[in-house]
Amino acid sequence: MRIAKEELFNFPLKKIGIFGASGSIGKQALSIIKDHSNELKVEALCVNSSSDFLYEAVKEFHPRYVGINFIKDNHPLIRYCSLNNIQLFIGKDSASKIIEISNLNIALNAIVGSIGLDITLGLIGRCEILALANKESLVVGGGLVQESMNNHSTKLIPVDSEHSAIYQCMLGEKTDNLQKVYLTGSGGPFLTRNLKTFNSITVEEAVNHPNWSMGQKISVDSATMMNKALEWIEAIRIFQIKPDQIEIIIHPESIIHSMVEFVDGSYKAQLGSPDMRVAIQYALLGGERKNSSFPRLSFTEQLSYNFFPVDYNRFPILFLVKQWEKEGGNRIPIMSIANDIVVGQFLKREIRFVDIIPKIEKTVEKFANNSSLTKEELAKLTSQIQHYLGV
Ligand code: NAD
Ligand code: MG
Repeated sequence: MRIAKEELFNFPLKKIGIFGASGSIGKQALSIIKDHSNELKVEALCVNSSSDFLYEAVKEFHPRYVGINFIKDNHPLIRYCSLNNIQLFIGKDSASKIIEISNLNIALNAIVGSIGLDITLGLIGRCEILALANKESLVVGGGLVQESMNNHSTKLIPVDSEHSAIYQCMLGEKTDNLQKVYLTGSGGPFLTRNLKTFNSITVEEAVNHPNWSMGQKISVDSATMMNKALEWIEAIRIFQIKPDQIEIIIHPESIIHSMVEFVDGSYKAQLGSPDMRVAIQYALLGGERKNSSFPRLSFTEQLSYNFFPVDYNRFPILFLVKQWEKEGGNRIPIMSIANDIVVGQFLKREIRFVDIIPKIEKTVEKFANNSSLTKEELAKLTSQIQHYLGV
């Protein structure tokens, strides 16, 4: 008789689903699961179109469910899944189908872009812990996500390093005692670049982040500092704090991942090397701490950690996002949807780096109104924005 590993050790393996498994966050999550195979098991893997990567991952991790949006009819993954009793779902609704039938303990939403909202909404109520890397879903559908969270017991653990830091700083604290959050940002590759040369910024320069190794879209977002604008909204939505309680500060070393200030004048910060695996592991282990071989900080060397206020002239999106959040309505969702599109156009070299934020601003001006959006209205607005931006 074959005894399942979980029965042998008398504790259940946590079943993990990874949505966006072939990306920067998804791959790091798989390496963490490998390191903790005595307690974590890959149950479901979903990707957009990286069929070769998925095939290798399926052979290595033996998930029960596999989803892919696009795959060639004769790809060996299809035969492998059918021979090995693995349920393979193909097509744009593959992830949703898996969410419906799988019984996940922990689900990681590591899809990139506002399209991740459907996965976030689908997972709430369907898993115990939602490890959320896809910040865009909170930006584009903040109210919808909040409403759904209020009606279900699923717990959200942020994967974004700043929000993981704030989450950890708030453990054991009363929310009423929180005075301020300091959301740190490195300033990206163009923190000190001469503004007169912004016209000639190339894709290669924009995706070359000084501290973090990440996917292409978030790397460009870091270069415009849209990433910090998205994170500012993400913090408001996750921690239910007032916009004027969150201050963005530049911290070029990316060691302090964020800080909180309490009413008594005391501060807490969470520190670590700029390595996303720390925050991913923390979320996948449901907030438990376990040994890791991730890089350590050394406090015996001479250290200097710098902090600067934001230069709004260099990074105008950080001014605009505050204005749009104050004005409310559909402005913040438009910002995220338009950003997904124009960053894609920049990466395809169809527009210049300096066109990114003005195009988003124009799109917000064109479509802004004061109504909040249902899921259906959001889908309709997305198609209108795609059409407006020439997709
Ligand atoms: P990435 O581009 O490296 O990977 C994206 C993943 O999403 C891929 O697996 C791709 O197959 C999948 N995907 C894309 N479109 C999809 C679709 N329509 N349906 C299903 N799957 C789809 O992205 P990333 O850098 O890993 O970032 C993922 C998310 O995590 C983003 O929201 C990003 O802002 C956030 N995040 C990333 C980092 C980082 O270090 N990379 C840090 C903090 C937060
Ligand atoms: Mg971050």
